[in-house]
Amino acid sequence: MTQPSDKALVPFVSVDHMMQLIHRIGMDDMLRGLADYIEADFRRWELFDKTPRVASHSDVGVIELMPTSDGEAYGFKYVNGHPKNTAEGLQTVTAFGLLADVASGYPVLLTEMTILTAMRTAATSAMVARHLAPKGADTMAMIGNGAQSEFQTLAMKAICGLKSVRLYDTDPAATAKCAANLAGHGLTVVPCATPEEAIEGAQILTTCTADKQYATILTDNMVGAGVHINAIGGDCPGKTELAPAILHRSDIFVEFPPQTRIEGEIQQLAPDHPVTELWQVISGTAPGRTSDRQITLFDSVGFAIEDFSALRYVRDALKTHPLYHPLDLLADPDDPRDLFGMVQRAAP
Ligand code: NAD
Repeated sequence: MTQPSDKALVPFVSVDHMMQLIHRIGMDDMLRGLADYIEADFRRWELFDKTPRVASHSDVGVIELMPTSDGEAYGFKYVNGHPKNTAEGLQTVTAFGLLADVASGYPVLLTEMTILTAMRTAATSAMVARHLAPKGADTMAMIGNGAQSEFQTLAMKAICGLKSVRLYDTDPAATAKCAANLAGHGLTVVPCATPEEAIEGAQILTTCTADKQYATILTDNMVGAGVHINAIGGDCPGKTELAPAILHRSDIFVEFPPQTRIEGEIQQLAPDHPVTELWQVISGTAPGRTSDRQITLFDSVGFAIEDFSALRYVRDALKTHPLYHPLDLLADPDDPRDLFGMVQRAAP
């Protein structure tokens, strides 16, 4: 009597199952698969419901909800950003997400998204770099060697053919951790003592630091002609990584302007400063890189459609790899109007 019926059970992908899924599919293949799903959704950008994420700020961090829908499925992610967490042994970013059927409103998937966010952020970075980075780019500076850094690096390898990564973090222990994790992945890994050393010879500059302030991870004189900047860490009001002068020398590419104007590097610019929407580059209606000397900047903040793509990817992957717990999440009495009766019948 108290057993839920099968149709009401929602697949739940735990952290453990997500890790198993990555190992079953393979890190490189999953990053490539995610990038393909994200790119496919950027190509049909116009049909999505879009809104800047709903943020609740505190002095130490932010908690955000990121909803979107393509008319058939609806998805949202809950995510936090708390730079001070690592000092307390906690993650800076944790997340979970849900996919639902628009026709019924019923959830069809609930999943951890802390790991999935690192995967989708990395896949997005590499998918964008595939469109914007200079031809033949094979060396990246990875500044900020925290939780996202290995994922960022491996996606650039799997999707853009990266051969060498130059690591820098203010905390040498983070660089040592990142270098150890990347060993054996077919990359030349060079730990560096300064950010200036890290950018030497790099055509892709990734900044992925966490600090709740207007930080200057890259100064103007560090950025030479022709590079692609993949700016990940500035993703919140009052939290940026690049000197404003760099922004004035760059062609800036963004996910969803109404959100990036509030959260991205471009919060430091005038509200009408020109930017290009990435979906237009990907669908061929706006130019991407047009010259060897151009500085391209992906002002990444993370947008709901990327999470939606990742949720779609996981839903489809579970058909081949059924790594989930059926979750009794949804009250669904046989007689839809007899919710009370169902509760009564469950009396011990
Ligand atoms: P993390 O706390 O695990 O790592 C951040 C690292 O940056 C730490 O190792 C820290 O020592 C280092 N750092 C701080 N200040 C530095 C400086 N001045 N120079 C060099 N290194 C410095 O955080 P994480 O999970 O790796 O996330 C990194 C950033 O990326 C966060 O700000 C997070 O909010 C952001 N993020 C963005 C997206 C997106 O879609 N754009 C997605 C996920 C995370």
